[in-house]
Amino acid sequence: MRIVLLGAPGSGKGTQAHRLAESRGIPQISTGDLLRAAVTRGTPLGLQAKAAMESGALVDDALVLGMIRERLADPDARAGFILDGFPRNLVQAAALDGLLAELGQPLDAVVQFEVANDELVRRISGRRTCADCGRVFNVLTSPPSGAAAVCPRTGAAHRLMQRADDNEVTVAERLRVYAQKTRPLTEFYRKRGILRVINAEGPVDAVAQRLADALTGAPAATPAAARVRKSAAKRARPKSAAPTKARRGRAARSTARRAKPARKAVRVRTARKKRAAAPRRRKSGARRGTRR
Ligand code: AMP
Repeated sequence: MRIVLLGAPGSGKGTQAHRLAESRGIPQISTGDLLRAAVTRGTPLGLQAKAAMESGALVDDALVLGMIRERLADPDARAGFILDGFPRNLVQAAALDGLLAELGQPLDAVVQFEVANDELVRRISGRRTCADCGRVFNVLTSPPSGAAAVCPRTGAAHRLMQRADDNEVTVAERLRVYAQKTRPLTEFYRKRGILRVINAEGPVDAVAQRLADALTGAPAATPAAARVRKSAAKRARPKSAAPTKARRGRAARSTARRAKPARKAVRVRTARKKRAAAPRRRKSGARRGTRR
């Protein structure tokens, strides 16, 4: 299966991509991880990407696209892949479409992770990565414990490090960039009919279950399709259906509204009759302020 995970920084894409990759035997391809590795190795790509990553901006599209093109050509990606953190804007999404069309391997599903902003900030502040195996933990919500407390690379306890860009200032910028550049991808993929949206808050296992359900379920409807379905359902509703309490209430109110003008007309007629019955006043002297 070829899957894209979309979501803000801290929405848990990396954690879920890692689990999904293990359970499905397909690689997790994280552009953030690839870029960080390039920075650590000091490659030309890493040197070019470093400044943008430190400020929370996006790395140049051409650099990221070159890196993705190479990674997708690796033999392990032929059986499928999970893209985590890519695409990040509409240019990258269109380029990915073109690249996958060339390879004859279109995307099967795009899953949007929804998490409230204050929860994102809380998660990012507790996030730590093992410097040896790269596994991500959260010291606030899911610290290393049990079998997961031992690093599979070293056999010792994980060496937990905080990412340089997980600081308050950079996080604010990353969230702003996400809202402005990445969020529009939701509509891009919804229109293609392959978007699924999940609530990514709560325990990791619960989110994993929602993700698994979303991957087997139907894609999210476009707003237009949802409107069409709603009005079709309205048309299909039988006219003879027994009136509901709400409908009876509406009917009674509208009858009362219709009755109001009738009551007003009666009042007007009564007033006219009274005036006709009253003795005529003389014009002069009868008016206020003209008495001598
Ligand atoms: P991440 O680990 O996905 O949060 O990414 C960390 C940083 O790497 C981002 O803030 C960007 O600077 C850079 N980055 C990761 N993926 C991309 C991408 N697809 N396009 C541009 N920059 C990216």
